[in-house]
Amino acid sequence: MSLILKNTTFVHWETLDFSRGHIKVEEGPDGSFTFYKDFGEVDISPEDEVVDCGGKLVTRSFAVGHHHTYSALARGMPPPAKTPENFLEILKYIWWNLDKALDRDSVEASALATAIACAKAGATFVIDHHASPNFIGGSLELIAQAFDKVGVSHLSCYEITDRDGLDKAAKGLEETERYLRNNQGLVGLHASFTVSDDTLSKAVGLMQKYNSGIHIHVAEDEYDQQQCMTEHGKRVVERLHDFGVLESSKTILGHCLHLTDTEHEIVKNSEAFIVQNTESNLNNNVGFFSSKGLGNRIMLGTDGMHSDMIRSAQAAYFVGQSKDEIDFRSAYDRFVMVHNYLKVNKFSGDGDNNLVVLDYDPPTEINQNNFLGHFIFGFSSRDVQHVISDGRLIVKDKKVCRVNEEEVMEFAREQAEKLWKKL
Ligand SMILES: [Zn+2]
Repeated sequence: MSLILKNTTFVHWETLDFSRGHIKVEEGPDGSFTFYKDFGEVDISPEDEVVDCGGKLVTRSFAVGHHHTYSALARGMPPPAKTPENFLEILKYIWWNLDKALDRDSVEASALATAIACAKAGATFVIDHHASPNFIGGSLELIAQAFDKVGVSHLSCYEITDRDGLDKAAKGLEETERYLRNNQGLVGLHASFTVSDDTLSKAVGLMQKYNSGIHIHVAEDEYDQQQCMTEHGKRVVERLHDFGVLESSKTILGHCLHLTDTEHEIVKNSEAFIVQNTESNLNNNVGFFSSKGLGNRIMLGTDGMHSDMIRSAQAAYFVGQSKDEIDFRSAYDRFVMVHNYLKVNKFSGDGDNNLVVLDYDPPTEINQNNFLGHFIFGFSSRDVQHVISDGRLIVKDKKVCRVNEEEVMEFAREQAEKLWKKL
């Protein structure tokens, strides 16, 4: 069975060319599609599904460069016993409290809810960074199964850290190795300030053994740099560079807010990609991202705050007006850079047969020349009508097709209630 999108206005995600016609989508990982000007030329079998996309825009679906499945059940949770006064206290009182309370069921509920939110916001690929210190073994496989059920492709890692003791660090390394043996994935590290030289060295060993990359938070707050200088006598990027972290084009550096010019230069001249998470930085009051001197391998993420990549791109643009060098084109380039990251590193699940159909009906004309103005000021995840992942519909008429959303949400709310009682 093939999927046929009839009467589309197709927008090429790189050239922004507009073409009217019909699309026959190939099914399966890393597939493609065929474009027809004339519907009469489309080779249709009786079992094929034809979806009329008249008046709608069709383009490449989205991908999330940095997500945290584990925070899905945090929305509306009770406030911490003590109000955090700085970044380290935000981690200690909120996030490290939440992730320790996660068990098998709540991780599964978090992953299903996250995958549904991503799919409905037009994302068919998610790069996730997971932590559940009291349910480490098997957590990555469980998340993978949840994402597969919804139909969203993934590149996961477990957040290895010494923050809960060396036993948990060892379990994180074990879980990473078990997962990388059979799956595409990354080696996750929390951040330089919670990782000893020994753990960092073991993580890089796994990265090299499985030809993977490191996914780590870098200088999200000034504290990361202060701790690194005190403990190791060097800056965070210098430390990562010395250990070989930056030698892989699969490596992802999250945030990169508090870097010196020398560190910018090291990152720019390395193979690593950067992922910017504007709204999370605003929420944690840790500073502002600037692309100056960092090169152009910059992607966007949501940092677990939500699953809406259009919102992440618009936030990067607006906040960047006073804090960054960013225009319509560079905001869009960062939005789609994740596709380049996945392609150059030959990860599976982000082929040309990943598409989104947008029901976008602006009061002004939209064309190749002003597409980016509409992208920044007009587009919204609410416009996502259908989503095609690996050639198959995973969202049709704004509803997920492959899992029962009501049942998942009921399960998620049950798990959230149980989780919140443990906080
Ligand atoms: Zn993060």
